[in-house]
Amino acid sequence: MSRGKICSLEWISRPLRRGVLATKLRHCSRNAIGVQTASDASINGDQEEHDLCNWDELKFSFTPTDYMYVMKCSSGESAFSQGHLTRYGNVELSPSSGVLNYGQGLLEGLKAYRGDDNRIRLFRPEQNALRMQMGAERMCMSSPTAEQFVSSIKQTALANKRWVPPPGKGSLYIRPLLLGTGPILGVAPSPEYTFLAYASPVGNYFNGPMHFSVEDKVYRAIPGGTGGIKSITNYSPIYKAITQAKAKGFTDAIFLDAATGKNIEEATACNIFVVKGNVISTPPIAGTILPGITRKSIIEVASWLGYQIEERAIPLEELINVDEAFCSGTAIAIKPVGSVTYQGQRVEYKTGEGTVSEKLCRTLTGIQTGLIEDTMGWVVEIE
Ligand SMILES: *Cc1c(COP(=O)(O)O)cnc(C)c1O
Repeated sequence: MSRGKICSLEWISRPLRRGVLATKLRHCSRNAIGVQTASDASINGDQEEHDLCNWDELKFSFTPTDYMYVMKCSSGESAFSQGHLTRYGNVELSPSSGVLNYGQGLLEGLKAYRGDDNRIRLFRPEQNALRMQMGAERMCMSSPTAEQFVSSIKQTALANKRWVPPPGKGSLYIRPLLLGTGPILGVAPSPEYTFLAYASPVGNYFNGPMHFSVEDKVYRAIPGGTGGIKSITNYSPIYKAITQAKAKGFTDAIFLDAATGKNIEEATACNIFVVKGNVISTPPIAGTILPGITRKSIIEVASWLGYQIEERAIPLEELINVDEAFCSGTAIAIKPVGSVTYQGQRVEYKTGEGTVSEKLCRTLTGIQTGLIEDTMGWVVEIE
């Protein structure tokens, strides 16, 4: 196939119904970051091209890869039909789709890690599947079964395996989406859903500790809202707050609970922990905090390492008295918090060698990359 050639592929293999989203995929030529175009690879192609891109300069940014996975739940059906891999490319959407008009959509995020043994592993993908199902239930959407979800992730990772960075250089970030793609004019659930998973190699989110400001005017989540699911509607409403925080030199903002404005909840896309002595505390999952899989895993790893874990409300003032703070999420793994600033008052924490967060990070990433034996059955080796 020549480079830059545009080919159209049907979104689904079965014929499209009349009046239903006429979705086609286009394989677009690209050469965004000086990478080789994808057109040269075959599905599950065994080309291990280590000079595919400059692995040392990989950041947490998007690099297109070869394939994506698409699966559909058509109007009148409750289950997703057999999905398939297709070339990565733009998608066509009905202007009246539920996702474009009313934000009926969910996202997920997980990684494929290449270990020193050159094997590729996923970390607890069934947890992402369950979280997508919970979100779908809340958003009145149909969702893939856990088996369909996990299978799609394995296929997406394997089809793009030449994009899984070498050990220590990063990982292949996989982004599943569940979208209301059927046309709907009135405010109501979409008649049709599309599941899609694409992938991008990513490096470290950024280096060094996080420096937070505390946001006390904009709330990320409200009781009874969607803060507890990975709804695509949870992110752009806080862009203004985080853009302002970043303009002042902070890495991100910590959001407070909307009910009282007194307790810390989490940051834009990561959960928060504080450490005092042998006790590690984190806000509880009560609908306004995203139940992070990294968070959940840290709780288990920490008690396994002998720490005491508390899931409880953490008043903002408590940040003055803790030894350490750190954040967790698939994208960042575990990151130490260097400082938190609130109304001009800056509190600093210890980071680096010998900290609890460093120990937890080493253990967790060790399990994810196969360096530490996985006694919990968390890791799914796919090759
Ligand atoms: C995704 C996300 C997290 C982290 O969840 P993981 O499963 O650990 O990646 C935390 N907070 C928010 C708001 C998120 O969207």
